[in-house]
Amino acid sequence: MPTRADLLSELDVDCVPNAPVGTLTWYGVGGRADLLVSPRSINAAAELLRRCRLQDVPVRILGGGANLLVDDDGVDGVVVRLDHGCFRNVEFNREGEVTAARVGGGVDLFGLLHTFARQALAGFEHMAGIPGTIGGAVRMNAGGRPGDMAQAIDRVDMLTLDGELKTWSAEDLHFAYRQCSLPPGIVVSAVLRLHEDDPAEVRARVKTFFANKKAAQPMADHSAGCAFRNPMTDSGNRVSAGKLIDDAGLKGAAIGGAAVSTRHANFITVTPAGSAHDVQKLMQHVQQVVADTTGVHLEREVVVWSRGGGA
Ligand SMILES: Cc1cc2nc3c(=O)[nH]c(=O)nc-3n(C[C@H](O)[C@H](O)[C@H](O)COP(=O)(O)OP(=O)(O)OC[C@H]3O[C@@H](n4cnc5c(N)ncnc54)[C@H](O)[C@@H]3O)c2cc1C
Repeated sequence: MPTRADLLSELDVDCVPNAPVGTLTWYGVGGRADLLVSPRSINAAAELLRRCRLQDVPVRILGGGANLLVDDDGVDGVVVRLDHGCFRNVEFNREGEVTAARVGGGVDLFGLLHTFARQALAGFEHMAGIPGTIGGAVRMNAGGRPGDMAQAIDRVDMLTLDGELKTWSAEDLHFAYRQCSLPPGIVVSAVLRLHEDDPAEVRARVKTFFANKKAAQPMADHSAGCAFRNPMTDSGNRVSAGKLIDDAGLKGAAIGGAAVSTRHANFITVTPAGSAHDVQKLMQHVQQVVADTTGVHLEREVVVWSRGGGA
């Protein structure tokens, strides 16, 4: 690994070596990152990516940590965090009844929903109750029954790993169930298509979507949302991974501090005394039991960071 000076000299960034990134995730467990870097400008982020590429340093992007598990041994290379103002702006461009909102990649979704409701803007309420940032939501095409990120996106600005700033329009992007076709890199901002509406109605819809989620999911526990993707059947329909796990009798199953939620079987929760290892062991156990009882392989939805592992 190149020295910190090689990577960061004269770059406008904040940097924390040996940073406890596991505790920055919703799971709240897991180890440290060799370097946690917060660029103070888009140019600094671009130059950081260029240097990492030249020096063969792995780069991972941390959003709100709501879909992430960091291994107990931590993660190598650079973890980039978008917590400075240049990644947290929201700008509006109103043209008739349509409003384009350019939202920074580091903007928190919960706060954004309130901002839109205050501005009487509709078109994003279906994201209520989904934690994380715009960047993470674009990358994961986050969503649920009421809709997903893709339906609100007009375009996405991204820094590729070469440090090039590129724009993709919605037409050029392919979004599918919890995935999008963007290459690796940093989602710097996304332009969302919204329209004006009665603010009370916008607020009421946000409240309803949020209440529905809260009724079905253990929102207050430490988790990363659904642990597994809903698998596709031979007939091309998706079946609920939660139902398969429930049918396999795994609700409440526990290893160390990790447990299959009794509220929603696709949520694996962990207590603060637990570890990322407990979560990973339990995920493997669930995969094994479901495969043995149904023949279906459950694919992980949660992103896992480990030393030498992928992003
Ligand atoms: C209680 C709870 C409920 C949830 N409910 C739902 C739900 O209903 N539907 C759903 O889809 N998800 C749900 N999730 C999962 C999570 O909220 C989403 O996946 C969310 O989009 C993650 O965003 P994040 O910013 O936290 O990303 P992270 O968890 O920080 O990262 C996830 C991935 O996105 C990448 N990433 C993050 N930011 C950027 C960026 N700026 N540029 C490029 N890549 C980036 C990361 O590198 C990583 O690969 C839930 C999670 C919890 C804890």
